[in-house]
Amino acid sequence: MIQRIQQVAVIGSGVMGSGIAAHLANIGIPTLLLDIVPRELTDEEKKKGLTLEDKLVRNRLANNSIQALFKQKPAPLSRKQNAKLITAGNLEDNAAELSNCDWIIEVVVENLDVKKQVFTLIEKHRKPGSIVSSNTSGISVEAMKEGRSEEFQAKFLGTHFFNPPRYLKLLEVIPTSKTAPEVVEFMKEFGEDVLGKGVVLAKDTPNFIANRIGTYGLLVTVREMLESNLSVGEIDSLTGTLLGRPKSATFRTLDVVGLDTFIHVANNVYEKVEGEEKEVFSIPMFMHKMRENGWLGSKSGQGFFKKE
Ligand code: NAD
Repeated sequence: MIQRIQQVAVIGSGVMGSGIAAHLANIGIPTLLLDIVPRELTDEEKKKGLTLEDKLVRNRLANNSIQALFKQKPAPLSRKQNAKLITAGNLEDNAAELSNCDWIIEVVVENLDVKKQVFTLIEKHRKPGSIVSSNTSGISVEAMKEGRSEEFQAKFLGTHFFNPPRYLKLLEVIPTSKTAPEVVEFMKEFGEDVLGKGVVLAKDTPNFIANRIGTYGLLVTVREMLESNLSVGEIDSLTGTLLGRPKSATFRTLDVVGLDTFIHVANNVYEKVEGEEKEVFSIPMFMHKMRENGWLGSKSGQGFFKKE
């Protein structure tokens, strides 16, 4: 049962939203990429005499992401296909466009309140029958559906892509207690046959499957580093090339993920567990300090490493 997906909207044009939109556009699905309006001008924009109302500024987040996408190599699946339309825009100005979309993917910051605000806006504009999903790394999808209409809830589920979405094969599909079985079935088939992913059905547990294991492994490694007085470089060698991984499973990965996002994701579990497990999922102080300094990783130009 493959329902026709003729247009998709991706809301949130950060690390993941831009990558998901690129993947969709590259396999030939017209994709609309939307984000919020920047509230401050950059130094460069000030020098150019631009204002917050200027279109170039209003669409900065989405435009920057698209420029970055065009620099990436196409994913193997998409080589045979021609990239189709991809447009960028401000969410508020383009919300009416959501009524033309068959699938709307929420990819905004890992925060339940922000995500719920986005779902309120989606519900106002979406057409009945359209699928709505969240790319959350581990917030309860059951909690996200609260307050929405029955029809919305039947079409709503988690679709968790991995970073970078063009290359990583895994797609976790997370139904809620109200997701219609045919929507889950559709997403499994569509994910595998059209998106080229390996789909795994996951239960709605904190951080689902892969991130529960991944966050655990990463934080245990960091603790071991601190206790054994090892350096970031040594850990990256030990968990990367020495294990036969092309890059690193630890700090370079964290730079790609984004430290702010990683802290939110670890907190998803921290808030739900007790005892020893809680200790494992607590974030070391130096990571909080890095976040305060804006050393978030590749997206801010500096994380554990400077952007190459
Ligand atoms: P990001 O910080 O790179 O981007 C988030 C984007 O959301 C920003 O561009 C921001 O402007 C936008 N945004 C915030 N509030 C908004 C609103 N109200 N309306 C519209 N846009 C809004 O974050 P990211 O890494 O792309 O993560 C997005 C989601 O994907 C999160 O739920 C995260 O947990 C999940 N995720 C992240 C990764 C990863 O490796 N970074 C992997 C899988 C899943």
